Amino acid sequence: MILTEKKPLEEILSFMQQDENIFLLACGGCPESAEIGGEAAVLEMKEGLEKAGKTITGYLIVDFLCNKVLATMRIIRHKEKIAQADAILVLSCGIGVQAVSSIMKKMVYPALNTISMGGFQGLWPGQERCEQCGECILNLTGGICPITFCSKTLLNGPCGGAKDGKCEIDKEKDCGWHLIYERLKKVGRLDKLKEFKKARNFKKMEPNSEVRKKRFFDIEQ
Ligand code: SF4
Ligand code: SF4
Repeated sequence: MILTEKKPLEEILSFMQQDENIFLLACGGCPESAEIGGEAAVLEMKEGLEKAGKTITGYLIVDFLCNKVLATMRIIRHKEKIAQADAILVLSCGIGVQAVSSIMKKMVYPALNTISMGGFQGLWPGQERCEQCGECILNLTGGICPITFCSKTLLNGPCGGAKDGKCEIDKEKDCGWHLIYERLKKVGRLDKLKEFKKARNFKKMEPNSEVRKKRFFDIEQ
């Protein structure tokens, strides 16, 4: 099962400063099993955001957001409420956030950090992958993971070696940062590229890191 932890509300509010109207989308799969997803978590998030002055245009829980076909069929029925939103906040693992971002024409943000997958990479055999870095930064990249889409796992822009949109390491592969640029351009948020991403804290990826131990412990109780 994929393990996730909630991002602090302050962090979520800091990257949604420009977005007043928010639609909440949650995965009813792994996060719900780990008791940080599902309706209770969505309603808690809704309350927190409303207290901070945001308007929630609606919310939806989809079993396995990583399944793009299923997610699209469910999301399309809520298109009016989604149309009213400036952005979509997703309570799921990194793959779910990336899958949603790939089918939406709006800014998509992660509400959780993915901390472990136990080798499991979502139900949908799409190209999205997550390295379980423990500090999800999809909010800065239009929902495309720079750690898995860039061959050099660069966090602050391209290496400069891409040619015709292809990676200099693997010419069969699209440059991850080219994809990020195009996605942010599509949703009108190229300003996100100006934000500096700190070096990763690799301790969060250690199997025995405090955050992983805590989540496993929670589940075992
Ligand atoms: S930034 Fe990438 S590796 Fe890290 S949690 Fe998000 S999707 Fe996973
Ligand atoms: S060409 Fe693009 S994907 Fe390849 S290493 Fe450079 S920035 Fe990363």
